[in-house]
Amino acid sequence: MKPNQPMNIPSILSEEQYSACRLCPRQCGVSRTARREEPAVRGALLKDDSPTGSDSATGSRLGYCRCSDRLLVARAALHQWEEPCLSGVSGSGAVFFSGCTLGCCFCQNYAISHERFGMEITVRRLADIFLQLQEQGACNIDLITATQYLPSVIKALDLVRDRLTIPVVYNCGGYERPEIVRALADYVDIWLPDLKYFDPSLAARYSQAGDYFTFASQAIPQMIAQAGPPVMGEDGLLRSGVIIRHLVLPGARADSIRLLHWMKDNLPEGKWLLSLMSQYTPAGEAAPSPHAVPGEGSATGSRRFPELARRITTFEYESVLNTAIDLGLTEGYMQHKSSAKEEYTPPFNLEGV
Ligand code: SF4
Repeated sequence: MKPNQPMNIPSILSEEQYSACRLCPRQCGVSRTARREEPAVRGALLKDDSPTGSDSATGSRLGYCRCSDRLLVARAALHQWEEPCLSGVSGSGAVFFSGCTLGCCFCQNYAISHERFGMEITVRRLADIFLQLQEQGACNIDLITATQYLPSVIKALDLVRDRLTIPVVYNCGGYERPEIVRALADYVDIWLPDLKYFDPSLAARYSQAGDYFTFASQAIPQMIAQAGPPVMGEDGLLRSGVIIRHLVLPGARADSIRLLHWMKDNLPEGKWLLSLMSQYTPAGEAAPSPHAVPGEGSATGSRRFPELARRITTFEYESVLNTAIDLGLTEGYMQHKSSAKEEYTPPFNLEGV
């Protein structure tokens, strides 16, 4: 984040966005302004929201992400499970925001992304959290799935921009409007987007976002253009740059390979890092059904997404990995196949909130 920039918030990120929200590619256009009687802690009892588009607790209309303008955070703590150049020894300063604009059916953080577990905090409190994480030794401020709250998040960043000396990481699903990425130029040092799907039918099936690649393929080059090539400190920590994450999904290695070819053909060489991930574990709606009926095709997995109810095979990951190597996409990180463990998901217990 540029420390001495004037506080001139781009209008596309102003709080007026909450009145007709177009913060993400879904561009719902709804007013997310909440009435004040919603409980301050959003828990499991509130997960059965009305499917009609109004929030049963607030009465306000909601968009796809189902978030009001009340800033909900599920956890703010040092986090060891990002790439080594982000976690370092002490960990990234991870702030997990509740809700998500993408809402993948297999999300490892389902309780916060879909059920929006979290506690309401003020912008001032979020700014204090940033400083506390820095005092605890965080390598960076790791904003995890923040798009739906951007007007609040950048106000908090503005409050501490003269005291924050560690980089700001924008950790997102890659489903972003290029205009929003552009507006964040003075706030974000490190972009950490996923690049999830090439095929619109996969994106529609798993994330209800058939236009995922259309947006991600514009947003990610914009991130690279803004951040410039990766800059590492002498301590081995990333100061600025872009890391593109790709999680190999069961049965989707052909899509992964198409994405690698797109990266090779369309992204500037040497200007970004690849993080190729094998850690997929069935979770959320892709988790094995507790009520599976043997013989009905659901005994081994989710009824809606049976193809996702397993980990990836060694063949699937290695064929994707070998493609990356063959294409020369070797700057970055790869995981051992044994990395598929639930322990990558931290407990969402309001720690640090
Ligand atoms: S942030 Fe939420 S309400 Fe706003 S456009 Fe995206 S999905 Fe819709």
